[in-house]
This record gives sequence, structure tokens and C-alpha cells, in this order.
Amino acid sequence: MSYLEWMLRVLKNSVELAGLPQEVYDYLSKPDRVLMVKIPVRMDDGRLVIFEGYRVQHNNALGPYKGGIRYHPEVTLDTDIALALGMTLKNSLAGIPYGGGKGAVKCDPKKMSMRELEQLSRGYARAIAPIIGPEIDIPAPDVNTNPQIMAWMVDEYSKLKGYNVPGVFTAKPPELWGNPVRIYSTGFGTVVAAKAAAERWLGGFEGKVVSVHGFGNVAQYAAYWASKYGAKVVAVSDTSGTVYDPNGLDVELAMKVKNETGKVINYPRGEKISDPDASLYVDADILMPSAIENVITEANANKVKAKLIVEGANGPTTPEAEKILYSRKDFIAAVPDILANAGGVIMSYLEWVENLQWYFWDEEETRNRLASIMEKNFMRAAERWERLRDERKDRLVTMRDAAFVLAVERVYKAMKLRGWL
Ligand code: GLU
Repeated sequence: MSYLEWMLRVLKNSVELAGLPQEVYDYLSKPDRVLMVKIPVRMDDGRLVIFEGYRVQHNNALGPYKGGIRYHPEVTLDTDIALALGMTLKNSLAGIPYGGGKGAVKCDPKKMSMRELEQLSRGYARAIAPIIGPEIDIPAPDVNTNPQIMAWMVDEYSKLKGYNVPGVFTAKPPELWGNPVRIYSTGFGTVVAAKAAAERWLGGFEGKVVSVHGFGNVAQYAAYWASKYGAKVVAVSDTSGTVYDPNGLDVELAMKVKNETGKVINYPRGEKISDPDASLYVDADILMPSAIENVITEANANKVKAKLIVEGANGPTTPEAEKILYSRKDFIAAVPDILANAGGVIMSYLEWVENLQWYFWDEEETRNRLASIMEKNFMRAAERWERLRDERKDRLVTMRDAAFVLAVERVYKAMKLRGWL
């Protein structure tokens, strides 16, 4: 099944579960607008390479289109459409005033020099300039794109306009109208969701045993904030393996080791396990899979001991695995990615608000605002889930189902009020 087919199936299921008319599905199954562009780049060796890029604007019932730009050799227009639909739902659930969009360029950034990347990024910004803007569509980073790329793009767009337009891209460097919280906002947000879930269902977060799968950007800050909030982080892992200490890891030391040597397995204390997936199976109350998709599957779900899963990564738990988990008596919930890792785009929203006003909050103030939005979102989803479960005793209703129902309902209400349906 392609990613687009899968997303459409999720959409159909949510529309049905929410008891909404079929035309909601019909409307949302197609994007509002798709722009395909070519980006010619003179490479360092003198060749002219024509890259292909897209910007998909899926739905703007709730506000301007919003979503990242992905650089990837295998990206297709269909994948980009699916990702843009995903952003419509994520932004809706996040309660922020945005619709959904997504951009992509078919390229392999790992094989490109800085100069080539800069040319490509400026070329892409110029190509999509006619359909973006702070009031229309606000791109941001996604896979393989970063604050430096946003800096080039905002510069290119500003040059076209003839004045500085900070609010057209988000997740820019702090020196160029970005916010220092953005770098850790996804991992931090995941912990806010985990903390709210533990307070609701496990009697508190402090002292709870936490395991983190992964040790990239999201996972490092998830582990960092979990331990800062008083949980005991016993395991983290990367492709080099898992480090485990039932007495709790020194997360800051693990981050230092990872950033200096590239491998978390060089952490000097605790037990070292060569299997990177061992962090999924250790004794823990809360598991935060925060690396990649499809790590908890039909094949290993019965080895997971945690009562609560909080998804920092996108799609770490497959639907089949989820069924197995929920059939376990002591399993509480898998707090879905669309809710738990929305910290990135919510932070983008706060940065955009700052940019529109040319007024900047300090780091702590921004972080508190982000936490309060994440907490509210978690509560809304948890309450809706508990109600839905009571209403639909005839079937398994997961927390993921409830999150998608909420997301679809908010877009539906806006479209209905506007007279689109
Ligand atoms: N790419 C991130 C996401 O998928 C962030 C998007 C944004 O900040 O606009 O949520």
C-alpha cells in the first residue's frame, strides 16, 4: 500500500468514526492545489542538473497552508500529497490556525556541496514564491532540511519582495528571527504529552521509568526533558546499540558522548547491548519511540513491556502492533505521533506570531506557551478518547483513532461554517 493510500484509509476511517458525511472524505481526499516546479542548478563540476520540486496546498479552512519541505531522492508527488493531508490533520488537532501543506524536492542532499544546496534552496524558494507568503502558505523544514536552508529561503523571498519577510518560513536560525526553543521543541513537546498522560493514567510522572528508542534530535531532547521532569530514563539507543542502566542514565553525559563520538554506545556506565531495539523491550512504564517509523510491529509487539507508548517519531507503531498492544491487560495507550510530536509545528506557529509582530518572547516564555498548548491538546484528545470508547463498545477505539476524529471534526466544522460543504 502506498503512503497516500494508507493516509486516505486513515481519513476514511476517521470520517466514519466521527459520524460525518461522506462528502467530508471526498473533499479532503484531494488537495486544493499542486505546484510542480523545475529548479536548474549549475553543479560544482559544471553540469546543469534540473531538479524537480513540488508544493502541495491541501486545505486552508482553518488558516494559511503550513508544513515542511522535504529533500529526498525517492519523494514523489503522491507522497507529498499524503504528507500535506497529514499536515491538515496535525495542525487541526494542534488547535493552531493553520491548514496543511507540504513541499518536496527530489534530490539527494547528502551528495551535494553547500554551494549546490544553497543554489537549490534559493531556486526552490523562487519557484514557489508566487504561491507562498506569511498570509498564504508558510513552509518550514522537514526531512533533510534545516534552519540554514530556511535562512537562504527567507533571504531569497525577501529579495524578491524588496523588504524583509520573516514570517514566510519558520524554524529559522535564532539569529535570523527564529526562536531558540525550536531546536528542542519536538522532543520537549513529546515529554509534555508523556507527562500529561502519566499524570492522568499512572498517578504522576516523577519517578516513572522511561525508555527512549533513538538518540537523534527528538530522542535526545525527549530523554533530556524526561529526566529534567524527574522521570528515570533507563535506556536510550542509536544504530550503535542500546545503553541501559536500571538506576537511571546521566542523560546529559549520554548527549555529550553521542555528540562527541557519534555513538551512544560509548557511554561509560551501565550495560551496553548491541541490539538498538533493546530499548523497546526493557522494563519501563513509558516507552518513547523517537527515531524512525515501523519499529513496533506485529513481529515484536508482544516483547514491549511499557504500559504507555508516547510516539516522538512518525509512525513507529504499526496498526497490527497496536492491536496486539491494546489486547494486553495492563496496556494503557499509545499516544499517537500526530499528537505527541506536534511540538515542532506548534513552535513554528509561535515563531510566526513573533515574526508577524516583530516582537520576540524569551526562551522560557516561549517554552511555557508551547507546553500549555501541548497540555491542552493532550487533555482534549484523552477526553474524546474516553468518551468514544464508551460510545463504541462494538470495536477497538485507539487513542490514535480519537486524535484523528478530533482533527477531522475541527476541519469539518470550519468548512461547514464557511459554506464549503
Ligand atoms: N516538518 C514538521 C512537521 O511535519 C514541521 C512543519 C512546520 O513547522 O511547519 O510537523
